[in-house]
Amino acid sequence: MNLDFAPEDVAFREEVRTFIAENYPPELRGKQEEGEELSKADFLAWHKILAKKGWVAPSWPQQWGGTGWTPTQKYIWSEEQARADTIPVLPFGISMVSPVIYTFGTEAQKEKFLKPTYNGEIWWCQGYSEPGAGSDLAGLSTRAERITGDDGKAYYLVNGQKTWTTLAQYADWGFFLVRTDPAAKKQEGISFLLIDMKTPGITVRPLITIDGGHEVNEVFLENVKVPVENRIFEENKGWTAAKFLLAHERSGIAGVARSKRGIERLRGIAAGQPGDDGAPLLSDPMFKRKIAELEIDLTALEYTELRTLAGEAQGKGPGVESSLLKIKGTEIGQRLTDLVLEAAGHYGAPYFRGFPTEGGNALPIGPEFAARAPTTYFNMRKTSIFGGSNEIQRNIIAKMVLGL
Ligand SMILES: Cc1cc2nc3c(=O)[nH]c(=O)nc-3n(C[C@H](O)[C@H](O)[C@H](O)COP(=O)(O)OP(=O)(O)OC[C@H]3O[C@@H](n4cnc5c(N)ncnc54)[C@H](O)[C@@H]3O)c2cc1C
Repeated sequence: MNLDFAPEDVAFREEVRTFIAENYPPELRGKQEEGEELSKADFLAWHKILAKKGWVAPSWPQQWGGTGWTPTQKYIWSEEQARADTIPVLPFGISMVSPVIYTFGTEAQKEKFLKPTYNGEIWWCQGYSEPGAGSDLAGLSTRAERITGDDGKAYYLVNGQKTWTTLAQYADWGFFLVRTDPAAKKQEGISFLLIDMKTPGITVRPLITIDGGHEVNEVFLENVKVPVENRIFEENKGWTAAKFLLAHERSGIAGVARSKRGIERLRGIAAGQPGDDGAPLLSDPMFKRKIAELEIDLTALEYTELRTLAGEAQGKGPGVESSLLKIKGTEIGQRLTDLVLEAAGHYGAPYFRGFPTEGGNALPIGPEFAARAPTTYFNMRKTSIFGGSNEIQRNIIAKMVLGL
């Protein structure tokens, strides 16, 4: 693998860097620095700027708005976004459901959903997990029965409950896995439905996570009428589309570029933060070793990701590598937050922005980074659970690679 950037790649990096510097909204930057919870409009502000530029969905087929970038350009793009600490484009529409739609959908479905998703006009949520079906996703029990509506059209009548549904409080549409044949083998009776979240019978209730944020929800579906034309792919074959989507979801979770930026930031923090002996933490051999170990693991992950990207460029879809990238990427992201919290020391006592100060939620003191260290630490615990837990990814590797 030639690791030198070609002159055109260097020029591309410059173009991207300038674009971000000139176009990233300063008010968004301000909110990020203050650690404020982002609103729907905040999330969409950067999305819409990128859509206008034509850069919001680099991996899509060019026919639908993809950039046609080389793997190196895509890599540079993710590095530059991390370097500038831009908020990520949410994956649910752009990198999860859209690849399913352009791979398995009908022409009418592509026409209806791809462009508005690209432009940030449809906010998607993912309705896979249920209270009794997470790791064992194929055991899901939300039921969809075919009925004929009063208008004479064919519908599914959907009843059940989904959980952990990220940002469903903002969603216009959701992609749901439902059971259409309860008599069939688990994986064979599932269908993939697109559901308008405004349909009567849908209730979204918040779940508050340990970092105090409202990111996830429970979604209840009671006699929700979904037109049959909203089904993607064949009835009872939804598992094929569901698995395809999960591979895309997992490889996106690795977050290599963001962790690289995180290590740089950690070094800066450790250089300015005194250790037990009063000297900067960065000169403490134990702390330095922890950063070095993290950096070595991250470099190894980076090359694995580059190999995967090169494979994708040759038409090999993300396979079992996505499990590996997910495990290592999330572990590294969590270790980073462990070290930032360690650097914060006693200033890293939990403080939840927006919560009352009575009852132990005292206003933060100490260096500015320390106030956000605990919430980020708590928030990152989710990464080894979602997208299929890391234990489940290890099972996949054991089966597919080791043949166990
Ligand atoms: C913050 C957050 C956001 C999420 N967002 C979404 C979303 O938007 N949409 C959505 O559909 N889902 C979402 N999820 C759900 C996520 O995919 C599930 O939490 C995950 O698949 C694990 O399922 P579970 O929570 O039911 O845990 P369980 O399956 O009950 O697992 C509990 C524990 O047992 C372990 N375990 C289970 N089976 C095995 C096994 N066979 N071998 C070894 N260990 C095993 C697991 O690793 C885990 O540690 C989200 C989760 C979180 C935490």
